[in-house]
Amino acid sequence: MTTNRIALDSRGERLKTLFLHPPSFEGFDGGAGARYQARREIRSFWYPTWLAQPAALVPGSRLVDAPPAGLALEDVLPLARSYELVVFHTSTPSFAHDVRVAEALKAENPSLVVGFVGAHVAVARELALEASAAIDFVAGDEFDFTVKEVAEGRPLSSIAGLSYRDNGRIARTPARPPLEDMDALPWVVDVYHRDLDVERYVIGYLLHPYVSLYTGRGCRSKCTFCLWPQTIGGHRYRTRSVDNVVAEIAHARRLFPGVKEFFFDDDTFTDDVPRAEAIAHGLGRLGVTWSCNAKANVPLRTLEVLRDNGLRLLLVGYESGNQAILNHVKKGIRLDVAREFTASAKRLGIKIHGTFVMGLPGETRETIEETIRFAREIDPDTLQVSLAAPYPGTELHREALARGWLGDGGLVDGDGVQTTALGYPHLTRTEIFASVDAFYRQFYFRPRKIFQIALEMARDADVCRRRLREGAEFVRFLRRRARRTD
Ligand code: SF4
Repeated sequence: MTTNRIALDSRGERLKTLFLHPPSFEGFDGGAGARYQARREIRSFWYPTWLAQPAALVPGSRLVDAPPAGLALEDVLPLARSYELVVFHTSTPSFAHDVRVAEALKAENPSLVVGFVGAHVAVARELALEASAAIDFVAGDEFDFTVKEVAEGRPLSSIAGLSYRDNGRIARTPARPPLEDMDALPWVVDVYHRDLDVERYVIGYLLHPYVSLYTGRGCRSKCTFCLWPQTIGGHRYRTRSVDNVVAEIAHARRLFPGVKEFFFDDDTFTDDVPRAEAIAHGLGRLGVTWSCNAKANVPLRTLEVLRDNGLRLLLVGYESGNQAILNHVKKGIRLDVAREFTASAKRLGIKIHGTFVMGLPGETRETIEETIRFAREIDPDTLQVSLAAPYPGTELHREALARGWLGDGGLVDGDGVQTTALGYPHLTRTEIFASVDAFYRQFYFRPRKIFQIALEMARDADVCRRRLREGAEFVRFLRRRARRTD
């Protein structure tokens, strides 16, 4: 940061603050709530929850989520003159784009203070600052209160968890300890209501419109590929109180009477079973429909309690149908437990969206077939197949670097679609890339699945319109992939 900007901060006056998820790839679901930042098979957007949280702490701020709003650089450029501080949420796939947007905003208003937050920069703050002189500071760790203090105009040297420019050199302040009192975080739904259009947030397997938020941070599991717990959230599940969560949902229902479903995007909402059940009871009293992330090991009795209190769907990371791969990536799940859990949930009428990852360490042609067979056997209602993404800061990234598995193509292609970042001597990138296609086709193009989707469409005209649009998008996606070999 230049000397005059430090002087600006030192006045101790609040800076007029913009929180920006910048424009990058068309349809890029890379906001501060996405786990795999990429353009998806079907146009989807998660809420920018990680940006909404500090925005809720800074009075008078504004949150702009460019991709869902369809905003391009020329749309956000004029904002540079209306604000004193812009906080960018960035990601590994979009970082180069985001830097270019920061530089353009800075050129428009040279006195603008520019900060970057997000997992990608949190794990390599100085490297991020070196990428461009347009970046004045980078917040590491949990950045909510760091950003709040910057926006209050405090001297940067006094704020924990920052790296910043200081008269030509890069300075770093001490680490900020993890937030323990999660109820100290204000509700995000007021920011959503003030700045976002819920209609623009769409996830194929959630009812529309939906609202998602966090009730806690951190995951007890140690999956080597998983971004948030290894970079910002940590491996302790730090939670908001039950009353606080239920009160926010009650408030959200008043703010958004048309919202059909609430989604709890905690890494693993079911990690704390008694708490999950207590929240469910509160939600049951409100009479809302909700869904959440879960591991494939929730006990039957708990599933019953959740279902009886409005749970509609569980988003479950199965990742692979091969036990050795699951063990290697430290998933902490046995396939027989996952099978039993899935059968129980289905018996209770709880929908399952299963997620799988192709190309994890240990993947072979045989394990690909095994995983597809496993998915067809447990038969989640819907599924998503991703390519293994070695994010900097994760154990998978370190392993890939050490073993020479990393390609030089990055995590996404020029359209923001995932590429095969990992390749192995026994299994080429082309084969891994093609396996995603094969997986989708063998799972969805079955009479049973087609009949299930047709039935769902026949029952509800809204669902019918949505599935037709999504189906067309999905077929276009598969065709595009078929033309590529990665
Ligand atoms: S259980 Fe899910 S959220 Fe937790 S570390 Fe593993 S992949 Fe990440």
